[in-house]
Amino acid sequence: MTTDNSRLLYERARQVTPGGVNSPVRSMRQVRPYPLFAERGEGAYVYDADGNRYVDLLCSWGPLILGHGHPAVVGAIKEQAERALTFGIASRLEVELAELLTSALPAVDELRFVSSGTEATMSAIRLARAFTGRDLIIKFAGCYHGHVDALLARAGSGAALSALPVSPGVPGKVAEDTIVLPYNDLGAIEQAFRERGDRIAAVIVEPIAANMGVVPPVEGYLVGLRRVTREHGALLIFDEVITGFRVGFSGAQGMFGLDPDLTCLGKVIGGGLPVGAYGGRREIMERIAPQGDVYQAGTLSGSPIAMAAGLAQLSELARDPEAYRRLRELGLTLEREMREAAAAAGVACTVQGAPGLLSAFFCEGPVRDQADTERNQIARYRAFWQSMAESGVLLPPAANEAIFPSLALGDTELEIIRGALPAAFRAAASAD
Ligand SMILES: *Cc1c(COP(=O)(O)O)cnc(C)c1O
Repeated sequence: MTTDNSRLLYERARQVTPGGVNSPVRSMRQVRPYPLFAERGEGAYVYDADGNRYVDLLCSWGPLILGHGHPAVVGAIKEQAERALTFGIASRLEVELAELLTSALPAVDELRFVSSGTEATMSAIRLARAFTGRDLIIKFAGCYHGHVDALLARAGSGAALSALPVSPGVPGKVAEDTIVLPYNDLGAIEQAFRERGDRIAAVIVEPIAANMGVVPPVEGYLVGLRRVTREHGALLIFDEVITGFRVGFSGAQGMFGLDPDLTCLGKVIGGGLPVGAYGGRREIMERIAPQGDVYQAGTLSGSPIAMAAGLAQLSELARDPEAYRRLRELGLTLEREMREAAAAAGVACTVQGAPGLLSAFFCEGPVRDQADTERNQIARYRAFWQSMAESGVLLPPAANEAIFPSLALGDTELEIIRGALPAAFRAAASAD
């Protein structure tokens, strides 16, 4: 497999863009000397700049739940493009997509569209602080909520609850208002609320963590978060940017029967275009301007093209009552195949997932929080990734990330994956 065109593009790109990419993980540094550059996608496949074809198990980190170039989505985009690209005033498709989302998600009465998941979490936090009149935010180590200053925080040392910035440029003072706790540890949350409960505005959580690899909540954890936040008058924010319309049509909140105060959305709801949204209880959402006093705005928010793409994608999912069952089975099939191939190669590998999502960790399991993910052997993942790519399967180009199957996967593609796994796990077994 040659990737010379990707290398040439990378050489040009790094002259004009930091690291040659527009989002760090695209550098593929963990698994390759330089990034692959994509050229086009078609159904279950993505092609790189050298014409190599891969079964796409990344799917743009989740949005492409129907695969590449689904005719309903592309058709809707084309049709809308002919009408108008953007108005800067209200338009019908914003209403239609908002109606669809609020009727699908039990905990969302009203929502506001933004252009990315980051904007959604940033705005939800501002709103939670305004609504409660408090400043502190709790997040969990290993959960990712976009590159919001307050959420680029890691636990401070010792017993100090105040977090430290993860990145230069995030003021220490901003991180100080964030408390970072281990995921899946209800005791830690109860203690934080005992100590500072009257100052905590919100707890933000991925109800199924998928940004440290897939780490499902342990039994009772989310119910516990709901109870503790309610007891102390703090808001519970579900970041469903990944889980929304992936684990099922009503998101993780529907799956677990829980009612977060606010919900953040992105990825699947935009059909592959840049869309985010935050929503929740009416009483809270009505604090947003112009109804209320909390400012938040966006020139291209509710972009008609993006709304059309999202509507088309979600309508496809709504139309096919089998869609989510099929996606879940695809995920389970991949989990099983990976476990079997890992066992046959004699390599320690923990495969865990949630509906429509899965991960392979090169360590003993279970993986329940970020500390556990540190046992994942990245050298093994690198060897595994490279072998899969050589066999024509594109996986997330970093360890501790989720695999995103799409509904475009059919028997042919499963056969390609099945055929690729044994050599990849053998490569992993001999990489140290
Ligand atoms: C991707 C992601 C975000 C950030 O979304 P962007 O569109 O990349 O800004 C936020 N939360 C979660 C859970 C995500 O997976």
